[in-house]
Amino acid sequence: MRYISTRGEAPALGFEDVLLTGLATDGGLYVPESLPHFSLEEIRSWRGLSYSELAFNVMHPFVDDAIPADDFRKMLDETYSVFSHKAVAPLVQLDTNEWVMELFRGPTLAFKDFALQLLGRLLDYVLEKRKQHVVIMGATSGDTGSAAIEGCRRCEHVDIFILHPYERVSEVQRRQMTTVKGDNIHNIAVRGNFDDCQRMVKESFGNQGFLGGKTQLAAVNSINWARIMAQIVYYFQASLALGGPDRSMAFSVPTGNFGDIFAGYLAKKMGLPISQLVIATNRNDILHRFMSGNRYEQHKLEHTLSPSMDIMVSSNFERLLFDLHGRDGQAVKTLLENAAKGPVSIEDYRWRHARKLFDSDAVDDKATCDTIREIHEQNEYLLDPHTAIGVRAARNCRRDSSVPMITLGTAHPAKFPDAVAESGVTVKPQLPAHMADLFEREERYTVLDNNIAGVQEFIAKHWKNA
Ligand SMILES: *Cc1c(COP(=O)(O)O)cnc(C)c1O
Repeated sequence: MRYISTRGEAPALGFEDVLLTGLATDGGLYVPESLPHFSLEEIRSWRGLSYSELAFNVMHPFVDDAIPADDFRKMLDETYSVFSHKAVAPLVQLDTNEWVMELFRGPTLAFKDFALQLLGRLLDYVLEKRKQHVVIMGATSGDTGSAAIEGCRRCEHVDIFILHPYERVSEVQRRQMTTVKGDNIHNIAVRGNFDDCQRMVKESFGNQGFLGGKTQLAAVNSINWARIMAQIVYYFQASLALGGPDRSMAFSVPTGNFGDIFAGYLAKKMGLPISQLVIATNRNDILHRFMSGNRYEQHKLEHTLSPSMDIMVSSNFERLLFDLHGRDGQAVKTLLENAAKGPVSIEDYRWRHARKLFDSDAVDDKATCDTIREIHEQNEYLLDPHTAIGVRAARNCRRDSSVPMITLGTAHPAKFPDAVAESGVTVKPQLPAHMADLFEREERYTVLDNNIAGVQEFIAKHWKNA
């Protein structure tokens, strides 16, 4: 399988190189040159497979000969055995023909574990083969940092440095990062905000001289293709569990950077019958505004009860724009260069095509709280604020009640106890047993000034073979 850039100029790469690359050299994102397509008969034959067996069938065409089949199977078995539910992504019924897929049974209680548990293992495998080392540098305001740390803690060829804004992440989220033990794990609290952290990461990728040429940086944010790839699998899993591929399904997806829902779009293109995909956003609703009015325009960042969806632009949306423009990289490049300067639109017939592919809704904090409270009253089931946005959008946008509607449950409610309390539900969401002592565990992190030279010096000094 070869991968090409959405901006049409960077060289095509194989799977291993795509894994180790962040942005393409032309500023674009990598996508597969062509997608595998599965017949209904083939998908039907996957009924009854375990999650990791299914994951192998869905992902193997993307990995191709980069990893021998037996090694890849073993890696997937290990990856999904760390989840705390045998079904890995179990479905919970909310109402007649309405479901939540619980994607928060991984080590850090958010769906990002599905991809990052695998990404850590993929990286280590490829680096071992190549006798290389990488430094992962990332900025986080929430779930990505802890999932990346958990995913890489056992990697021999990876050191991971995660920057978070000092005293500006929730205590659960901070502790999930800072209590993980490992010589290759480094948490840096920057005296600044999330944007300061992100800017330092970006600038460091642009100029890696501070590493002295002895190692290189790798990216774990959702621009990494392997993360999207891993997320395609659970769309197949949910469909097969509810009678697919002989029935079509609808999915509602709490969306920030457009990674998770893009994976659903790919599942559909690969042959899975999906009749509706709902983009569910919070008040940071650039995607909903685009879908409603063909205007792609940055607004200022709003802080909401669903912080993992607080974004101004959706980086993975570029991958959809590439398809909407007939895979014309030059057109995408021009469009996004203009979008950095002000509002843009696309040609009307392309936008109409996008509206056929997706419905959308924006849900504010009040409606989020109302939904948490309603579902708790009706079912004694607690939603986290992100999943609640998905459920609300699913109900607002539903087209056909005979089609099963599945909302992706992206986080465990115990990660966001404040939002649950604000909804008026008096029951406190409990952390699962394996994390019950989170508040007693010892934390390790280093506080550094908001100064890139100091941060880079720290990294250069502390990676394994420095
Ligand atoms: C990351 C995240 C999202 C958004 O996912 P994208 O792939 O960026 O659209 C939604 N909910 C939770 C809990 C998350 O951690």
